[in-house]
Amino acid sequence: HMLDSVAAAPPDPILGLSEAFQRDERPDKVNLTIGVFRDEQGQTPVLECVKRAERKLLDAETSKGYLGIAGYVPFQSLARDLVLGDLVESERVAAFQTPGGTGALRVAADFLSNNFSGAKVWMTTPTWPNHPAVFGASGLESGGLRYLAADKTRLDVEGYLEDIDRQTSRGDIICLHACCHNPTGVDPSAEQWDQIARLTAERGLLPLIDFAYQGFGEGLDEDRVGLRALSQYHDEYLVCSSYSKNFGLYSERVGALLGVCRDADSAAAVTSSLKQSVRCNYSNPPRHGGAIVGTILEDQELTELWRGELTQMRQRIRQMREQLVEALQSQGCQQDFSFLLNQRGMFSFSGLTPVQADWLRTEKAVYVLGSGRINVAGITPDNLERLSQAIAEVVGQVPVSS
Ligand code: PMP
Repeated sequence: HMLDSVAAAPPDPILGLSEAFQRDERPDKVNLTIGVFRDEQGQTPVLECVKRAERKLLDAETSKGYLGIAGYVPFQSLARDLVLGDLVESERVAAFQTPGGTGALRVAADFLSNNFSGAKVWMTTPTWPNHPAVFGASGLESGGLRYLAADKTRLDVEGYLEDIDRQTSRGDIICLHACCHNPTGVDPSAEQWDQIARLTAERGLLPLIDFAYQGFGEGLDEDRVGLRALSQYHDEYLVCSSYSKNFGLYSERVGALLGVCRDADSAAAVTSSLKQSVRCNYSNPPRHGGAIVGTILEDQELTELWRGELTQMRQRIRQMREQLVEALQSQGCQQDFSFLLNQRGMFSFSGLTPVQADWLRTEKAVYVLGSGRINVAGITPDNLERLSQAIAEVVGQVPVSS
């Protein structure tokens, strides 16, 4: 027997908690684990701009024939402009529609592994757990760089820069979160981005920028702060962008891979090499998600509608951050949680320990990750009070050091 000898893979810790949440029969349970946006009712709705684009597509679509290897053509330039704006001339960019941000990362990783054997990918500690997994699947070695200060709520920029300076080698790759760092919510400031961009260029590193949350931090343009700094010092980098969160298109699998090159000739060669990576992965991307994003961004009215809906999502997350901090203060919580206001995007490192996370789950049916990561978008006006009571109680009862 061959299949019978296969050992089971370790369970995914996030999905495992979600399954436990589904099985939990307590009616007032609260799920802050999984990484999707939720509205005030706790739902993950289809955006109105998406519904309208889909109606248009249904009427206009005449064929389900294959897309090209690089995807839906209008999507390629629209995604490029959304992500890069006027930072680089368009002829310098190799642009691909990919199955989600994960698809972009995997194609990028295969491309890097094919072209730069021996290059190592450097990541923040912690990072999105799928980063090392995807790079490893492509045969790339990866390493970690210090990112957080000891209290896990702030950036240790000196430590980060020192590790970049001491550990990396010329020709290595550095994986950067453009904004809304997952899992911590801790982003560099504009000045810190400038330091990071300057040092990574000096060290001869190729930036691989994961842009999964454009518009979830401060705004579509504001969230390009890191890209802006990087493009001042680097004339080559890769961006893996996702439309799962900002268009709410999670299951449609739509993302983009943008290869910013020195000139048009280099972009043409990079495009041909990336096509090879796509061809042996999934051949060409699914049409529907890319066509939705393309239809919205091509149409001024739909784009306005989308921007409004995105602003609402961003503001709701911001409000929940503020209200959680206020509620914890008014519960007389022994710990100051105001650092949550400096973190951005859907996630935050709350500083809660694995023991406290366990207690919250077993005693209060409040589900947070063992790392202390919470999905702020899982907080609603209905569960806010229960949640803040539970956190205030656990912070008072279970010693932080345990
Ligand atoms: N990068 C990061 C940091 C993410 O958080 C995510 C989504 N959880 C992705 C990439 C991948 O997004 P997608 O669902 O579009 O593949």
